[in-house]
Amino acid sequence: MKRKTPQHIIVIGAGIVGAALAYHLASKGAKVTVVEAGGIACGVTGTSFAWLNASCAGIDPIAALRGGAIAAWRRLETQVPGLAVRWHGALSYGTQDGRVSPSCMVIERPRIAQLEPRLKQPPEQALYEAEQGAIDAVAATHALLAAAQALGATVRTHTPVRGFAVLEAKVAGVETAAGVIEADTVVLAAGTGTAALAAQLGASLPIHASPAIFLRYQAPPGLVRGIISSHAMEVRQAEDGTMLAAEDYVDDAPENQPAAMAQRTAIAIRSELEGADAIAPEFSCVGLRPMPADGVPVIGCLPQVEGAYVCAMHPGVVLAGIVGQLASGEIVDGQPASALEACRPARFLA
Ligand SMILES: Cc1cc2nc3c(=O)[nH]c(=O)nc-3n(C[C@H](O)[C@H](O)[C@H](O)COP(=O)(O)OP(=O)(O)OC[C@H]3O[C@@H](n4cnc5c(N)ncnc54)[C@H](O)[C@@H]3O)c2cc1C
Repeated sequence: MKRKTPQHIIVIGAGIVGAALAYHLASKGAKVTVVEAGGIACGVTGTSFAWLNASCAGIDPIAALRGGAIAAWRRLETQVPGLAVRWHGALSYGTQDGRVSPSCMVIERPRIAQLEPRLKQPPEQALYEAEQGAIDAVAATHALLAAAQALGATVRTHTPVRGFAVLEAKVAGVETAAGVIEADTVVLAAGTGTAALAAQLGASLPIHASPAIFLRYQAPPGLVRGIISSHAMEVRQAEDGTMLAAEDYVDDAPENQPAAMAQRTAIAIRSELEGADAIAPEFSCVGLRPMPADGVPVIGCLPQVEGAYVCAMHPGVVLAGIVGQLASGEIVDGQPASALEACRPARFLA
């Protein structure tokens, strides 16, 4: 039911998911406070490859949600000042992940060579998805939060949430070192910190920290035009010319540390791309993705207490826009979104 007075909603977490939520909630007239333990985008959003890839392998329990993800980013681009998506398309070949989407097409070597002229040995065939792109996830988080602030939201960084104020089985606010911040609703969009916060409200949510390797290189301009995802490398070139790559995490053996992976991936990139000899590792790290045990996002009200709504997911960059839109409709307008049905926290809390 729609309320007459604006709800005060606290969003815990200023990553891409919290920022998208804050923007959509503020757009709907809610009074929003974002409370962040560190700085803006200091979590895994800060080291994301940020490929807007809405394809999926096998049966997809969130097909409706994923199906709206690209359109949501296209809409946000028109609404949020400074938010830029690079719709440069993506090529995939020789990978085992089996991800496909209805709009991907098979293309042959001559077209592949046209799209990525620096590939030394373009494959005979590749999957091409023209409707895919990438964002600078940190810049996008800032842009969404700035747009939320322009609509009246407040952002409190370096303010860890330590607990909750709960009155008669209803969340009434969050506890911080500076005292309690009161709210009608609290949204847990704290990435890998979400499970610990939910546990304080009596909800045991199996959301694990899933490691992946983020790599950044200094690189000559124009090496890669879109995204290349192959058996040898997953790369794209950012607006500032740096080359970004993502790798699976193997283990913590010395040869699999991020710096070692950066050297190995550099060798692969040099052998795949003409003119890449000068690339040099600039930064590498392990990023921890919030991964629900069944791989399906956890989005919705916690059944144990009133006033607590959870938003934790992977792939969070892909889904942030559509989830911000649908979850804000549920929270502010009380309109249940059927596309979120498979995501309810209650599936873990029977
Ligand atoms: C190498 C790599 C490549 C990736 N590639 C892609 C990709 O191509 N596409 C894609 O969609 N996703 C990708 N991801 C995953 C994606 O980055 C994440 O799904 C997404 O950034 C999650 O955003 P978030 O806002 O939920 O979490 P976060 O960015 O971690 O934000 C959560 C925030 O909550 C804060 N917080 C936690 N606890 C508290 C507390 N108690 N009080 C206050 N604040 C708190 C944290 O400080 C943090 O800033 C990749 C990840 C990695 C590591």
